[in-house]
Amino acid sequence: MRLGFSPEEEAFRAQAAAWLAAELDGPFADVRHITSLTASPRRRRDWEKRLGEAGWSCVGWPRAYGGRDATLAEQVIFAEEYARAGAPPRLNHIGIELAGPTILAFGTEEQKARFLPAIARGEKIWCQGYSEPGAGSDLANIRTRAWRDGDDWVIEGQKIWTSLAQFSDWIFVIARTGEGSNGPKGLSFLLIPVDQRGVTVRPIHQITGEAEFNETFFDGARTDAANILGAPGDGWKVAMGLLGFERGVSTLAQQMNFRNELDAVIAAARANGEAKNPLIRQRLAKAEIGLKIMRYGALRMLTDAESGRLNPAALTYKIQWASWRRDLGELAMDVLGVAGETVAGHDYAFPMLPNLFLYSRADTIYGGTNEIQRNIIAERALGLPREPRGDLK
Ligand SMILES: Cc1cc2nc3c(=O)[nH]c(=O)nc-3n(C[C@H](O)[C@H](O)[C@H](O)COP(=O)(O)OP(=O)(O)OC[C@H]3O[C@@H](n4cnc5c(N)ncnc54)[C@H](O)[C@@H]3O)c2cc1C
Repeated sequence: MRLGFSPEEEAFRAQAAAWLAAELDGPFADVRHITSLTASPRRRRDWEKRLGEAGWSCVGWPRAYGGRDATLAEQVIFAEEYARAGAPPRLNHIGIELAGPTILAFGTEEQKARFLPAIARGEKIWCQGYSEPGAGSDLANIRTRAWRDGDDWVIEGQKIWTSLAQFSDWIFVIARTGEGSNGPKGLSFLLIPVDQRGVTVRPIHQITGEAEFNETFFDGARTDAANILGAPGDGWKVAMGLLGFERGVSTLAQQMNFRNELDAVIAAARANGEAKNPLIRQRLAKAEIGLKIMRYGALRMLTDAESGRLNPAALTYKIQWASWRRDLGELAMDVLGVAGETVAGHDYAFPMLPNLFLYSRADTIYGGTNEIQRNIIAERALGLPREPRGDLK
């Protein structure tokens, strides 16, 4: 197993770090160290474009579609340097990590040429329209419908928890298109422009005070007949392919920020004397060990992916990092004490650590809840009997 990186890979690291430092010390200093997903959307759109111009936007994609042909190891290195430099969260995270790889895997040549370079150039931002009221973990329960009308698909229904829809140009949606469609049968995967009369985006405020996610209503919305990934009725296959990206390699990048967050908790404990509290010290040490274990787990995943092996241990990755970060948020609040519960400004101007505590509550929900992860591990890694699912029989 790999325990580090080669000299060539370290040279790539130096190149990425130098570029990031020059931009974030210079013209993009105002977005450095932003941690909120909704802050400064206009400047973060500029940042997406700058990354695209310099070829650092979608490093793992083929050059033909605006990428850099980076190896998996180089992708991990870039993510590490991106976090180390304090670069802002990607406004087009969903386009780059979910829509793009799915279009690469399932799209036609025309679709790849049309959609991928626009994502890589930072011009088109995407969001994900899967969940509905009544269909989250049980995604096959969705009710949104679509049908053909001339050269268009027409879409009716409602999605919920649509992250960053208010900044997005496109949304990918699973909808019922087949006669008598039910459960995972008769679904289609549609690509729909957001800016049209038939689409309404209504923000939902979360406990951090931000409105990162939204309700998204489709009321006679339209998209061109060509904007379907896979064949009509094959949407479940495409949707599940996409969830593979969401639960797999794409979370590697996120892990790199955890080092910064743990360092901030340690610094806070040093500053207020809690570092001398034996119980807090135990928990800080446990967090450090957890982070090291995740790093070696990520390197093992990388080694397996490079040699084309499928290691069922990779299925434990989401529940590990989500639970680790939720524990870290609780530890941060215990370190801060009362100071963590008050804010200097008005409304919800939370500093980094209270924000981490509140946001990390969501980590064990999105991308498949902890309970769903345990089901996946039980069934796919341990080969235990499947849980009864009426509609999947
Ligand atoms: C911050 C955030 C961002 C999100 N962004 C998006 C987005 O951009 N696009 C999108 O489509 N969705 C998004 N989601 C929605 C997310 O995918 C769902 O919240 C998630 O799939 C869970 O679905 P649910 O909320 O309907 O909960 P439910 O599925 O109703 O689950 C409720 C509880 O029941 C448990 N449960 C459910 N089924 C089982 C089972 N079979 N066995 C054991 N326990 C079970 C769950 O674990 C959970 O504890 C986002 C969610 C969050 C929190």
